[in-house]
Amino acid sequence: MRKIEIFDTTLRDGEQSAGINLNTAEKLEIAKQLERFGASIIEAGFPASSPGDFEAVQRIAGTVKNSIVTGLARAIKKDIDITWDALKKAEQPHIHVFLATSPIHMQYKLNKTPDQVVEAAVEAVKYAKNTFPLVQWSAEDAFRSDREFLVRIINEVIKAGATTINIPDTVGYASPAEYGALFKFLRENVTGSDKVNFSAHCHDDLGMAVANSIAAIENGANQVEGTINGIGERAGNAALEEIAVAMHIRKDIYGIETGINLQEIKRTSQLVSKLTGVVIQPNKAIVGKNAFAHESGIHQDGMLKNPETYEIITPALIGESAVPLVLGKHSGRHAFKDRAETMGFDLSDDKINRAFAEFKKLADRKKEITEEDLLTLLTDQQIQHEEIPVYELKSVQVQYGTENIPTATVQVIQPDGEEVTVASTGSGSVEAIFNTLELLINSKVEILDYRVTSVGKGRDALGEAVVNLTYNDQKVTGRDAAQDVLEASAKAYLNTINRQIIQSSLRVKELIS
Ligand SMILES: [Zn+2]
Repeated sequence: MRKIEIFDTTLRDGEQSAGINLNTAEKLEIAKQLERFGASIIEAGFPASSPGDFEAVQRIAGTVKNSIVTGLARAIKKDIDITWDALKKAEQPHIHVFLATSPIHMQYKLNKTPDQVVEAAVEAVKYAKNTFPLVQWSAEDAFRSDREFLVRIINEVIKAGATTINIPDTVGYASPAEYGALFKFLRENVTGSDKVNFSAHCHDDLGMAVANSIAAIENGANQVEGTINGIGERAGNAALEEIAVAMHIRKDIYGIETGINLQEIKRTSQLVSKLTGVVIQPNKAIVGKNAFAHESGIHQDGMLKNPETYEIITPALIGESAVPLVLGKHSGRHAFKDRAETMGFDLSDDKINRAFAEFKKLADRKKEITEEDLLTLLTDQQIQHEEIPVYELKSVQVQYGTENIPTATVQVIQPDGEEVTVASTGSGSVEAIFNTLELLINSKVEILDYRVTSVGKGRDALGEAVVNLTYNDQKVTGRDAAQDVLEASAKAYLNTINRQIIQSSLRVKELIS
């Protein structure tokens, strides 16, 4: 079977989309999960864009071993140098250099003639090739570029040493037939096209990103780029889990091997959704809550007689297990730790102890602890920052009645260690909590978005709250889970504030060092 490389850009193209801000610990968690998922290449960030991105790419390159780690760079020496610094310790250093090639981008964005663009691309690839064994070059907005010009510039960058050529549909404008035809044309007209990888990178503005990526595969692409859950700029990127499952279910027509571990799909999807705060639409193919739900009576009847009447994919294929968790109220620390390890968590003793204490608390209040609950608990510990003092919620109490003004009383330990209690009112319980916390942190906060969802099923399911706000003129998203939605909301609010405190204190540290 033909092998297609899966290039994941959840941490770069996905992360740069509106409302998402992941810290280094969270990016590292996602990268480790992407490695288990089986991505051939992980684009960990854009190192020259910020010290935070640099640090994340460097940490990921030092941790991930079974996937190639890459970083994005503009076609300039400074970016390439910084990217090399971030990636030089990687198993196989790989760089992704891009330069726009469409008439509109060259004229208005770059203010360069086509000749100057060719020269800049060649120079950048040659320069990158001095250090990087693997150089991917992207023709930004390739789909809207002149075909003959594309052939010319690709010929030149291959001569300069590029090992992969990416042909993005940056604005999501292509149709499958056209995008496939472009790959066929380039394969036939580029000199030495059989010696390099051709890569597809599609955006979903017209809802055709996955279809376009598959059309590229059918026409000679041997790498596809995309993100988990299809997150990304505007309407997002091609959803990698959809491509991987489509290739598997229809291997009869495609004959393609992706190397993706399908059993890791569910967990990867949930982790990305949880840490980015981007909810998965219920009807989303493969990973949506309803992707395997059969509602109509005729369908249910058919399913009972033979599942294959209406089911082409089983939940088990993507790692959604129906087997209950063996852990419960009476499980010991040892069994808990074992379970955490089989789930792929590598936590310090301190963190295991704290997660275990949380688990015990939850087991007292909840009948059945699910794998999702455990994942929530362990992930929260894993990404916890220990060194920087932040706000910690001690207790929250809300008085609510349909005839009363809701009042919240909150007890919090401040970053300086002092414990304070504050009370305030609001027009609803959540607003009362938020108003009280705002008094406490003594700064103007504007709530941009707030959501509560349940983790898993059942009436005693954990509630997870996501808060997006501006604090100190910075947009931040945070989240937390608890069995009660009001407690989850208070914790999520403080988590958001804490993230901003950690981010700015790390920034100060960077400036000093
Ligand atoms: Zn993109």
